Amino acid sequence: MKKPFTLLIVDDEKQNRTLLTELLQDDYQVILAKNGLQALEKAQAHVPDLILLDVLMPEMDGLAVIRALKSADTTRHIPVIFVSALDTPEDEERGLDLGAVDYIAKPFHPPIVRARVRNHLQAVHQRRLLERLALIDSLTEVPNRRRFAEVYEREWRRCMRNQRPLSLLVLDVDQFKRYNDTYGHAAGDAALKRVAAAIQSALKRPADFLARYGGEEFVVLLPDTSAASGLQMADTIRLAVEAERVPYAESDCSPWLTISLGGATVVPVDVEVDTRLFEAADQALYEAKSRGRNQAVWSAQGAADH
Ligand SMILES: [Mg+2]
Repeated sequence: MKKPFTLLIVDDEKQNRTLLTELLQDDYQVILAKNGLQALEKAQAHVPDLILLDVLMPEMDGLAVIRALKSADTTRHIPVIFVSALDTPEDEERGLDLGAVDYIAKPFHPPIVRARVRNHLQAVHQRRLLERLALIDSLTEVPNRRRFAEVYEREWRRCMRNQRPLSLLVLDVDQFKRYNDTYGHAAGDAALKRVAAAIQSALKRPADFLARYGGEEFVVLLPDTSAASGLQMADTIRLAVEAERVPYAESDCSPWLTISLGGATVVPVDVEVDTRLFEAADQALYEAKSRGRNQAVWSAQGAADH
């Protein structure tokens, strides 16, 4: 079984490397470095979850290594525990000032080494969990608006580099306010979850990306997708939601809960996201609503250009 965490152990003495490896290799993936330069190379290449860093090493010592780690984007966030025979409070302070999360004195006391490593990796795990939660909408469990902004920028640039069309869908649940007023907010929440799940299941390509934009509004990014394919996709999504058959007797357009969609397409020419794509999709959504809802409309602007 693959071990969930990778440790980089840096020590110029073979004996220490062997000892620490024996202590930790049953629980973690262990990578070794025997000097400062090698430590930086391996930290860059593997981006370990935690680094045990010897302070006293010839040429490049532990303090120089941590400075270099903290000044590079790929390694800045990696927690570092100093391991040292120097054990005056001043030494410890200097290490902590430079950004070490902890300090272990040599000679090692094995249970302490294991416990400290475990504690710091637990913190790493918690932090990642929080980071992930911050990007997920808690009700529907699809990515939220903040995550959408990141993915939108990334896909925009990718389509620009490859000169490929990027399609954007903006959609919302038809007459959702009336649904909430009729069936209550708990039913409204349950309906939004089903809508999100139905849209998600209609997306087949890994790059297609759904997010909850707010309230009853969702967005779908379709990279590398022409206006014609985008419109097809929009209709697939619309039918998938209606096929959920969420009863809505009071709806003006169907016995079931439905959505309206607006789409637009562009081949990006500038690195900055052009707000006009979103505006065009939003305008198309408005058009879909005014034509009677439960339908998809593609921006004429996008369709004409591509
Ligand atoms: Mg040493």
